[in-house]
Amino acid sequence: MKVYNTLSKRKEEFTPLEEGKVKMYVCGPTVYNLIHIGNARPMIVFDTVRRYLEHRGYQVDYVSNFTDVDDKIIAKAMEEGVDAEVISQRYMQECKKDMEAMNVKPATVHPLATQEIDGMIEMIQTLADKGFAYAAADGTVYFRVKKFPEYGKLSHKNLDDLQSGFRSLQVSGAGQKEDPLDFVLWKPKKEGEPSWPSPWCDGRPGWHIECSVMAKKYLGDEIDIHAGGEDLIFPHHENEIAQSECCNGKTFSRYWMHNAFLNIDNRKMSKSLGNFFTVREVGEEYDLQTLRFFMLSAHYRSPLNFSRDLMTAAKNGLERIRTAAEHLRRVKDQGVGGPLTQEEEKLLEQAGEFPGKFEEAMEDDFNTADAIAAVFELVKFSNTHAKEDSAKAFGEKLYETLEALTDILGLQLEVKEEMLDQEIEDLIAKRQAARKAKDFQKADQIRDELLKKGILLEDTREGVKWKRV
Ligand code: AMP
Ligand code: ZN
Repeated sequence: MKVYNTLSKRKEEFTPLEEGKVKMYVCGPTVYNLIHIGNARPMIVFDTVRRYLEHRGYQVDYVSNFTDVDDKIIAKAMEEGVDAEVISQRYMQECKKDMEAMNVKPATVHPLATQEIDGMIEMIQTLADKGFAYAAADGTVYFRVKKFPEYGKLSHKNLDDLQSGFRSLQVSGAGQKEDPLDFVLWKPKKEGEPSWPSPWCDGRPGWHIECSVMAKKYLGDEIDIHAGGEDLIFPHHENEIAQSECCNGKTFSRYWMHNAFLNIDNRKMSKSLGNFFTVREVGEEYDLQTLRFFMLSAHYRSPLNFSRDLMTAAKNGLERIRTAAEHLRRVKDQGVGGPLTQEEEKLLEQAGEFPGKFEEAMEDDFNTADAIAAVFELVKFSNTHAKEDSAKAFGEKLYETLEALTDILGLQLEVKEEMLDQEIEDLIAKRQAARKAKDFQKADQIRDELLKKGILLEDTREGVKWKRV
């Protein structure tokens, strides 16, 4: 399997540190607002990478953080006159809902920056002890970039160029730094901001240190894949490498993967241009599976343009796959019983080439565009060869193949029926009545039926509670 590595700027053969296991860290969003469709791109892309790795039999430890302390969160909290935690908790929950709607699997761990402050202080202390960090008079702690000769290896930037760039740009706080390149590890608190005690001053961590610490805690000093959007290459990921490698004395991540940006109508998405969409807004107009399909229709390293026309094309494409799936389900249920005909056996053998093509595309740096093309070939094949009078087993086999491939892409073949709250309440009342009548079989049946539709019941002292899962 080939993976493009930003470190070497080449596709490399993928070999994990430990056979059969992949340790993967994906930088998550800052939770100060509903996520926008640009944020959705890394979520969908790297969830698909994870799904493919799992399909290949790897056990994937997937860690993705929520940045829950940050200037933007604090500004929003002040605007609303609430604590920063209220804002971050609210948008984290909303983000999880969007992820679920896009069929992005929850990470193995979703750590929160504010819960990992001790680890951050510890790492900063180690860096200071080793001479890689120093505190300025006001308690700000900086990383001493020049002390790490490999700085710039990910972004392929040269220290001299960086230096001259910085010189022409008067950076705030530069007066306290030994060198303009040095970056913040810990900063003193300002009035009204969340803060934690530390050996240097009451304050809060810089953004970069949080990912180095969470990756170390949940995955170890060395990881296989570190990923995020391409805007993170510099300075965020470059700084993560500096912190982790200087602290741990080991290569931090073997492979660095970055998705290209999502633009809108060929322009950078921005609030001021008025071309900014949240996932929630797109979800009001389209099934979010359509958004997922749209994202995967391009290679993750190519810039992707979001437009109504392209979303319509994605909607039609997904519908074509779902219509074929529906047809196959019908053949599977209503086709002819008994064994396959010789002709059908031959056809199934032929259909075996589609998963092969799909995998070939995914093995080539996760080329989902070509993988989708293989799915369409299977769709065309099914539409041509699966008939009302085909064997049930023929429909079943083709359906299974289609389902297996679309599942790797995280695309659902069946449209999830949204149950209305009232329908749920009615079924719960029926279940209660069945229990009262000691008809436990019926009660269990209703509970299972609800679970199939994604509704989990909990019997509590205050009565039956339910939630969507
Ligand atoms: P942020 O909340 O800004 O830290 O972003 C969270 C993730 O979304 C990061 O991996 C970013 O690189 C990514 N991201 C932000 N905007 C876009 C965009 N327009 N297209 C693709 N990825 C983006
Ligand atoms: Zn990060």
